[in-house]
This record gives sequence, structure tokens and C-alpha cells, in this order.
Amino acid sequence: MNVETLAQIAGEVSACQNCVLHHSRKNAVPGEGPADSEIMFIGEGPGFYENEQGRPFVGAAGKFLEELLARAGLKRSEVWIGNVVKCRPPGNRDPMPEELKACSEFLERQILAINPRIIVTLGRYSMDRFMPGAKISAVHGKMRQVGGRAVIAMYHPAAALHQGSLKPVIEEDFSQLARLLEQARKQVPPSRVAAAEEEPENEPRQMDLF
Ligand code: URA
Repeated sequence: MNVETLAQIAGEVSACQNCVLHHSRKNAVPGEGPADSEIMFIGEGPGFYENEQGRPFVGAAGKFLEELLARAGLKRSEVWIGNVVKCRPPGNRDPMPEELKACSEFLERQILAINPRIIVTLGRYSMDRFMPGAKISAVHGKMRQVGGRAVIAMYHPAAALHQGSLKPVIEEDFSQLARLLEQARKQVPPSRVAAAEEEPENEPRQMDLF
């Protein structure tokens, strides 16, 4: 059962000591949302409030994310939200390569358990996992087929809050999300996409329909 698999992963994340971040964490943040979510939102890593509460996107960026979800006709309670790194990097510094690597398998297993129609990446480190070397200014808001899955890279909500010019861009990208989800529903379900169709990692192909 997916619910049990996700709970098992969350337990492992909370006990994880695979990188230095476990020394400074108050709470690990495994991610949350329904086990059958059609969309997974994947941010970078927990900040101050997330570390306090053990939940993703509960600070200012989270409040803005909820507004953005509403633009797509979505409620927070119906999507899965998590991060590439499950413990707070001290002082909100960027995650280090070894920290990303240590957490990578958890996220992979969460994606397999949920099997979403669309993965939405929020920010650079999350985008890099699915579209290495891509430029967010070029790919944001576009649905691409990566390794048999539909992936959309979005600007990080916190970046849009700090840089006013990005706000209308991310708002427009989220406004298009309902339409993209509708289109993704017409595609072959992810579980039936043959592994053989996997794209070269650094050449994400834009889906034919878009
Ligand atoms: N920013 C992130 O990338 N993730 C969170 O959980 C909170 C803020």
C-alpha cells in the first residue's frame, strides 16, 4: 500500500544519519500529501519554520505556494509537497552535493510510491535533479517528458517573493497548471511508460502536445 510505503520512508528519513544535516536538525521534513496525488511539488530543503514543525513549506514561501496552488484550482491538501533535501541546511545555505546524494534515494522511492502524473520542481536544485544543466529562464512553466514522467520546472516561490519581477511569471505559470494537468491526464499513465523511452538526462524533450 502506498500509504504504508510513504510512512515507512518518512520513518527512515526521521532516523537518517547519512549526512551532516542530521546533527543540526530539529525535525526532518519527509514531505506530506495524499499517497495518490496526481501532482508532486518538490522544493529545495526545509527552512527555519519547516525544521521547527517537521512539515514542508509552512513559512512565507509556503503561504505564497498555497496562493499559487489556488490559481491552478488546487488545494494544498490534495497535492504532495516535499523537498530534495529533507533536513534544514544550517542558516538556509544551499545544499551540498553529498547532502543531495544522501537524500536522493528517499525522493526516488517517494516518486515511485506516489507515481504522480506531473512532477513540479520548485527552484534550482530540484530542477537540476530532473533537467541537469537546464536554465530556469528558458524552461519554466513548460511540461517536459523526463524519464517517462511529465516534469514542469517552476521558479521557487521564495525567489519570486524576493524578486518582484518574477512574481507575475510564476503566477502565470501556475495559472497554466490546470490546463497542463488536464493534458497530462490524456497521456499514457506513468506506470505504463516503458523505461526504454527514457530521455538522455541533459536533453529533456518537450512533450509533443505543447
Ligand atoms: N523552501 C523549500 O524549498 N522547501 C520548504 O519546505 C520550505 C521552503
